[in-house]
Amino acid sequence: MKRVKNIWESFLINSIKSRKKENNWRTRNSIQMKSSTKIIFKNQEYISFSGNDYLGLSFNEDVKNAWKAGINQYGNGSSSSGHIVGYSEVHRTLEEKLSQWLGYQEALLFSSGYMANQSIVFSLMKKRDSIFADKMSHASFTEASMLSQANFKRFAHNCISSLHLLLKNHSGKKNLVFTEGVFSMDGDFASLKLIHEESKNHNAYLMVDDAHGIGLFGEEGRGSCNVFQIHPEILMIGFGKSFGICGAAILCSSKMKNYLLNYSRSLIYSTMMPPSQAVALLESLRQIKRSNNLRKKLKINVEFFKKMTKDSQVSFLSNFSESGIQPIIVGDNQKCLELSKFLFQNNIWVQAIRPPTVPFGTSRLRIVITANHTFDEIKKLVYSLRDFFDQNEYKK
Ligand SMILES: *Cc1c(COP(=O)(O)O)cnc(C)c1O
Repeated sequence: MKRVKNIWESFLINSIKSRKKENNWRTRNSIQMKSSTKIIFKNQEYISFSGNDYLGLSFNEDVKNAWKAGINQYGNGSSSSGHIVGYSEVHRTLEEKLSQWLGYQEALLFSSGYMANQSIVFSLMKKRDSIFADKMSHASFTEASMLSQANFKRFAHNCISSLHLLLKNHSGKKNLVFTEGVFSMDGDFASLKLIHEESKNHNAYLMVDDAHGIGLFGEEGRGSCNVFQIHPEILMIGFGKSFGICGAAILCSSKMKNYLLNYSRSLIYSTMMPPSQAVALLESLRQIKRSNNLRKKLKINVEFFKKMTKDSQVSFLSNFSESGIQPIIVGDNQKCLELSKFLFQNNIWVQAIRPPTVPFGTSRLRIVITANHTFDEIKKLVYSLRDFFDQNEYKK
């Protein structure tokens, strides 16, 4: 037993050491969100530019009240898998509203985007099938793809010719192309029109993960696919970002839904999201549809951020995008942590994002501009960035 203990201890110690050595050590802080943009930590207040609550719905009063009313009506939990007695009328209503909104035959609720992505890969993609995913795709999808029996290939980020070559040379029995609508770490849009055409030309289904596009772009916030006017066979939307809650849905055909209901283990063997949460999500959806003003405000804030960074000459490291996600790519892990710490000392909270979340050598500050930030808050962020770069070797 002592030997076993030693093996475990040295495994843990060595794994921890190697993360620390790479300046890649991860910890969590227990904070309190005071509003969608304010964090309280150890009695200090910080402006947060790290949350994904783009429209501020996580603190929306109507959504809060809907959730409370949902609890009063349906209780706290769903009590079982949807295949037993966990699936209620309000889950059904939410699925119907989502499919109507996005123009699909069906929607299928999941407890998280992570589960939804894994579920698609594990239940649909078999031996001799091929998966083609953008290099910058989310870990939930790539992890499942690596573990699946299917052949897994990645194409260069948003590069149609790279996708074309892979589809031409590695076509399997069933083929699935995967991309995000708006990429979570760079904030750029995928060339959805071209990717969809390329997929169709090779008889592949297209799956779009629109976790960072849904609610934020397109008519009534219908997301990236609406912007590019495409209708992928499988669409994943998440509720942890613009919806301000958590959970996810897969939009698809009736046949696909019936297949997933019978073969997806994460649906069959996992407790359904609470019905009260579905009530809250229905209210979030109602807010999103009529929130053109918030989407406009988000856009204005993003433009303001870009203009400020240009004017303050800290734009040389930033990789501007059209979305709220504005990365400042520092490269080195240590430097990136220093910058994050500097901002922290100025009561600004921006998390450093390091490998393996992003490619090696592209450590970055992932700044998220939301509709609820004020111009003053954005100014404070940009001036602090400028102060840091003025004091450091990045000085131009
Ligand atoms: C957040 C995110 C997910 C995971 O969704 P969760 O609901 O948080 O599990 C999947 N894909 C992308 C692109 C994401 O940003």
